[in-house]
Amino acid sequence: MTITHDSVWRNALKIIQDNVSIQSYKTWFEPIVPVGLTEKVITIQVPSQFFYEWLEEHYVTLLRKTIQRELGEDARLEYRIVIENSNTNSGPYTIEYPNYNTGNSENQESTIPMVIGKNIKNPFIIPGLKKVNIDSQLNRNYNFDNFIEGDCNRLARSAGYAVAQKPAGTAFNPLVIWGGVGLGKTHLAQAVGNEIKKKMPNKTVLYVSSEKFTNQFIDALKNNAVNDFVHFYQLIDVLICDDIQFFANKQKTQDIFFHIFNHLHQSGKQLVLTSDRPPRDLEGMEERLLSRFKWGLSADVQIPDFETRIAILEKKMYSDGIELPREVVEFVAYNINTNIRELEGALISLLAQSSLNKKEIDLDLAKKIIKNFVKSVSREVSIDYIQKTVCEYFDISIEKLKEKTRKRSIVQARQLSMYLAKNYTKNSLKVIGKHFGGRDHSTVIHSCQAVQNLLDTDPEFKDNVDDIQKKIQMNIG
Ligand code: ADP
Ligand code: MG
Repeated sequence: MTITHDSVWRNALKIIQDNVSIQSYKTWFEPIVPVGLTEKVITIQVPSQFFYEWLEEHYVTLLRKTIQRELGEDARLEYRIVIENSNTNSGPYTIEYPNYNTGNSENQESTIPMVIGKNIKNPFIIPGLKKVNIDSQLNRNYNFDNFIEGDCNRLARSAGYAVAQKPAGTAFNPLVIWGGVGLGKTHLAQAVGNEIKKKMPNKTVLYVSSEKFTNQFIDALKNNAVNDFVHFYQLIDVLICDDIQFFANKQKTQDIFFHIFNHLHQSGKQLVLTSDRPPRDLEGMEERLLSRFKWGLSADVQIPDFETRIAILEKKMYSDGIELPREVVEFVAYNINTNIRELEGALISLLAQSSLNKKEIDLDLAKKIIKNFVKSVSREVSIDYIQKTVCEYFDISIEKLKEKTRKRSIVQARQLSMYLAKNYTKNSLKVIGKHFGGRDHSTVIHSCQAVQNLLDTDPEFKDNVDDIQKKIQMNIG
C-alpha cells in the first residue's frame, strides 16, 4: 500500500483520538487538513495562526510522538496556515511554519385536559375555570440536542438525562442543578421537562420560577385560596422549580413549598430544582427544607472551557444559519470566559453591528465589539509595561531581557516576563517572542512551562510572582 499524506494523517488521528477529550478532538483535530508529504515531512493545514499556536502549546508532544510513530524518528511536522482575508478575492493563501519543537421532531405539546375540582383553581390561568389544560410553561427552545456537553456540565447533564428517561425512577429526586448565572441551569432543567413531554405526553410537567411560585402563593393568601394553590401543585407529575435561592427568608413560602415537596416526593413524583449556589450554602432556608434537598443529587454547572465555548458558539451559529471566520469564533471564545449568556450576547452584538454597518464580520470588527464586553481588553497592559515592572522588581535593565545573556537571574526574569505577557495580554506567542530580542514562539512556550514548574515547586519564587502580579493588576484596575 502506498503511503500518502491522507493515510499517514488518518492513522495519526486514530492515536490522537484516544489521547484527547472528544471536545478537544473536534475543536483542534477535525478541522486539520493534511496537504503534503515528502519523505519525512508531513504538512498539515490549519485554519488560523491562533489555531497553530494552540496546537504547538498544548499538543506538541502528542503530535510529535504520533508523527514519529508513523514516519520514523526523524519525522517532522509542518504547518500551513490559512489566512482569512475578507478585503481581497484572491482566496486563502498560506504560510508555512516548520515545527521547531522537535526537542520538546417538532413535538407537539400535548396539553392534557384536566378536570380540576370545582374549588381548585389553576393559578396560571384566569380563576374560575373548571376544565383546564395544565400547560407546562416550558420553553421549547431548550432541549438536550442544543445543550452542549462539556466537562463543565457532564454530571448535571447526564443526571438530567437519566431523570428525563425515568422521572422519579432514579436516585436523583430531587435533582438540584446549581451554579453561577448564565451557565445553563434553566436550559438544562427545561430540557428535562421537554424531553419528558416528548417521551411521555401523558405526564403533567410544570415549570415555574420560584419568584412566580411565591407571587402565586401571596395571591392565594390574599384570596383565601391557599388550599386550591396546594391542590393544584399536588397534581403535577414533574415539578421544575427554578432559582430556589429566591425562597430565602420567605418563611411562609418555604412552609408551603415543603408541604408540596413532601406530598409529591411521597407520591412518586419527580422534582427538579435549580439554585445559584449549592444547597448547603443557601442562607435563610429552613433546615428541614435543606435536608429534603439532600435526598437526591445536587450537580453543578461550571464555566465551560475554551473548547466547549467554541462548540457552543458553533452550535448557535449553525442553528441561526450564520457563518463566521474561524479566527473570529476563536477570538470571541477566548475573550469571553465568564458565562454562556455573555457569549451569546457577544455573538448577537457582532451580527447586529455587521448588519447595521453592512460590513462583513472580520477580526477587526470583532475586536472593537468584544472590547465592550471585556473590560480587561480595553485596559490591557502592554508587554513593555510588564517588562518594566519585572525589571524594576528584580532591579535589572530591560535591555538584558532582550540580549542573549544566560545568567540565571536574567533568564528567570526573561522567562517570567514572557509568562506574564502571555497571561495578561492578548498578543500571540510570535509577537511576544519578538519583544524579547526576536525569539521564536517555541522559546516562549518553553519559558511559560519553566515558570509554571518553578511556581509549582519554589514557594519563594511564587511569592515574588504574586507581588509582581499585584503590581500589574493595580494597573489593570
Ligand atoms: P442560568 O439559568 O444558569 O442563568 P441559562 O440556562 O439561562 O443560564 O443559560 C444562558 C444561555 O446560555 C441560554 O441561552 C442557554 O441556551 C445557553 N446555554 C447555557 N448552557 C449551554 C450549553 N451547555 N449549550 C448550549 N447553550 C447553552
Ligand atoms: Mg436561570
